Amino acid sequence: MVVELISVGTEILLGNIVNTNAAYLSEQCAGLGLSCYYQDVVGDNEERLSETIRLALSRADILLISGGLGPTQDDLTKEAAAKVFGKNLYLHEDSKAAIQSYFEKRGLEITDNNWKQAMVPEGCIVLDNPNGTAPGIIMAENGKHVVLMPGPPGEMIPMFETSVMPYLSALQSCVIYSKTVKMCGVGESKVETMVTDLIEKQTNPTIATYAKTGEVHLRVTARAEDEKAAKKLVKPVVQELKSRFGDYIYTTEEGVTLEKAVVDLLTAYGMTASTVESCTGGMLAARLINVPGVSDVFKSGYVTYSNKSKRKLLGIRKNTLLKHGAVSEEIAREMAKSAAFLAKTDVCVSTTGIAGPDGGTDKKPVGLVYIACNVRGHITVKEYRFSGNRAKIRDNTVSAALALTRKCILQYDSDVALDRKEK
Ligand code: ATP
Ligand code: MG
Repeated sequence: MVVELISVGTEILLGNIVNTNAAYLSEQCAGLGLSCYYQDVVGDNEERLSETIRLALSRADILLISGGLGPTQDDLTKEAAAKVFGKNLYLHEDSKAAIQSYFEKRGLEITDNNWKQAMVPEGCIVLDNPNGTAPGIIMAENGKHVVLMPGPPGEMIPMFETSVMPYLSALQSCVIYSKTVKMCGVGESKVETMVTDLIEKQTNPTIATYAKTGEVHLRVTARAEDEKAAKKLVKPVVQELKSRFGDYIYTTEEGVTLEKAVVDLLTAYGMTASTVESCTGGMLAARLINVPGVSDVFKSGYVTYSNKSKRKLLGIRKNTLLKHGAVSEEIAREMAKSAAFLAKTDVCVSTTGIAGPDGGTDKKPVGLVYIACNVRGHITVKEYRFSGNRAKIRDNTVSAALALTRKCILQYDSDVALDRKEK
């Protein structure tokens, strides 16, 4: 089935807000096996909105519309959609009661225009909105389905997950199941070359590559009569990818991020960690601290940006700094050594680099970064050459640091196992 997304709001047209709803919905639709050929953005104008809905209905089976369900004059989505379908609005008693209780619970006063949100088109399905006052709406006629959802992502996403997704799944005659193989420490082109043969002969399941900062994801998607059959199709392909990519794969679980994989690894090995950052200025610590439960393993994050701070806090000698420069293999190594001692952790990761736009030389260009990872005294230092602007270089550094940490912990573990065997 074909789906079209309509994002309503003059704010989006003006660039005042980023259309994250469309990004979220398109990803969800792809996961559901719906084809999306057009996405529209339209301002808060009833005529243009009706025109957009009519046009979208001429080329899609399902319209997912977000925004413009609020109580104010410029919220017109429901009115426009009802008119296109030739339906009148009526007062929906359950929605009225839900709005009343929403306001009472929060001790807020209801204004007259709030009741506008309880008006719904005849014959529609009304969707609960536990996170706001505007109910969602589904209108269906002659094989066309129009779904209206509130604009705020905090209301739209939960409504999509609890009510809209099951509705869309039920419309499909088949089930779509996908699994994502997430990798780090390997480039997109290398990944693509390693799966060319699989991609060329793919039909069901299909394999798609997605490059993220410092990561490559392969999504394996199958279509089948039921979930069990779809899973059966996906499993051998994921197994094949596992045997081809081995340790590059950090997870095949949907909710697991690279930082979570690192934290899980630290937890599994009973290791504590610290960071000491120059060019990333705390971003690496922040990414790790994103993970709930990190407090069991993460101890300290130092930002030693200036040479003076590298000397004072970490005790790095002036001569070493003068001889090699702050962006060097030696300094990355010293940072990881010294901060591990200060923080008393099993693992310590350091970053030092030239994020630009200034400060580059022929010998040390912008984008040159050194990352060191110290696992119980075994220090690995790697040199990187990233491209792009300051933000991109710093983002890449953080992802590379996470990937290197993961690799060094695994390497340490296998070295220790080997040592044990030799003894
Ligand atoms: P409200 O009751 O808050 O008025 P609404 O359904 O009328 O909700 P809008 O008025 O269109 O929605 O948007 C309200 C807010 O929701 C916007 O200011 C913006 O913060 C967010 N929002 C709306 N549309 C989008 C979108 N497409 N992507 C991301 N955020 C959005
Ligand atoms: Mg609004």
